[in-house]
Amino acid sequence: MDKNGFTTTIVHSDRRASVEHGAIHKPMHPSSEYAFADARELAAVFQGKAGFTYARQGTPTTTALELKVTQMEGGTATVSFATGMAALAAIFFTLLKAGDHLISSKHIFGNTNSLLGTLAGLGVQVTLVDATDARNLEQAWRPETRMVFTEALANPGTQIADLAAIGEWCKSKGLVYVVDSTLVTPLLCQAKNVGASLVMNSLSKHIGGHGNALGGSVTDTGLYDWSAYPNIAEPYRKGNPTSWGLTQIKKKGLRDMGGTLSSEAAHRLATGAETLSLRMHRICENALALAQALSQHPKVARVHYPGLPDHPQHERARQLFGGLYGGLMGIELIDDLDVFEFLNRLRVLALATHLGDNRTLVLPMAHTIYYEMGPETRALMGISDNFLRVSIGIEDIQDLIGDFEQALV
Ligand SMILES: *Cc1c(COP(=O)(O)O)cnc(C)c1O
Repeated sequence: MDKNGFTTTIVHSDRRASVEHGAIHKPMHPSSEYAFADARELAAVFQGKAGFTYARQGTPTTTALELKVTQMEGGTATVSFATGMAALAAIFFTLLKAGDHLISSKHIFGNTNSLLGTLAGLGVQVTLVDATDARNLEQAWRPETRMVFTEALANPGTQIADLAAIGEWCKSKGLVYVVDSTLVTPLLCQAKNVGASLVMNSLSKHIGGHGNALGGSVTDTGLYDWSAYPNIAEPYRKGNPTSWGLTQIKKKGLRDMGGTLSSEAAHRLATGAETLSLRMHRICENALALAQALSQHPKVARVHYPGLPDHPQHERARQLFGGLYGGLMGIELIDDLDVFEFLNRLRVLALATHLGDNRTLVLPMAHTIYYEMGPETRALMGISDNFLRVSIGIEDIQDLIGDFEQALV
């Protein structure tokens, strides 16, 4: 972030990079290929000079979005992807090899858990730990450990990893520290401040915010010295070592694997990003009020929300997230309330997967995202049958509280 504030920087980002005709938005560039007047220039861009060749490796529109994410995260550079999952796949598959060991938080998004299973099938050793205490990582360490992965704020259980202590420990061990910041966004916490090497954001969620475009990003914070990392291929061991990791992620993750963000989606996500701070403040305010109301309700067994004083990591959230607690909460209904009947009574909330939208969305977890993995894994991950994930939107708070009240009968 430059000397201006978060929102000022983002809303003026395109204009400052000088868009043709004085346009205040970077245009959508639909070109698949980019032609050159000079053959030497063409060769130079293929050999690493900044520029565009084929849209699978990015366009001026995706680059403009990447600059905004870099500014928000206070990082050195960003690569965008078609989805958050494509961004995570690019990190794991381009930086890890068979025989390497990855330590991951066990409190993670269900689809990420599934991806780690795929990775294990290819010979990467994966250990899941309770990352709310950094000492559990120390116990899982092996000489082949290369990387640590955690969500900053876990989807859907809202556990908050021991982010800063893990950062210090990774530094002492020379490990790549990857933080999925999707639920906190760089507004609540720049992962750089807890020592992350790479930050992943699902742009489909709060950063885009409007439920109309998918995207993901990987930002290098500049903290990791990639010259110490054994898996960087020879062609990318050039220039400043702080850029090597992201170069490999971009080359292999976009060029070879092809999970590329389209210019159209990038444009929508960039427009959404302009109001991230406004939306997030409203969402967090709504979420806290709703969590407080529901935690008193006799039909609700438990509310998992970091803004409540009884949340196990409430104090950590208070210190790290600047007084905001995010827009996601887990709600466990009392046993004699039928989850499906309750959901069918809701009138304002949308029964939908997804999160970080302007609309409040609710999803029963065990029956949907966590269904395929079976009861044992669900128990390990703390997902009970009456666990509902609620992603709070920007609606008027009395309508949200009122909808729960009329449905909790
Ligand atoms: C949604 C989500 C992802 C995946 O992002 P997509 O853009 O939907 O692929 C990854 N991590 C977390 C924490 C998420 O909530």
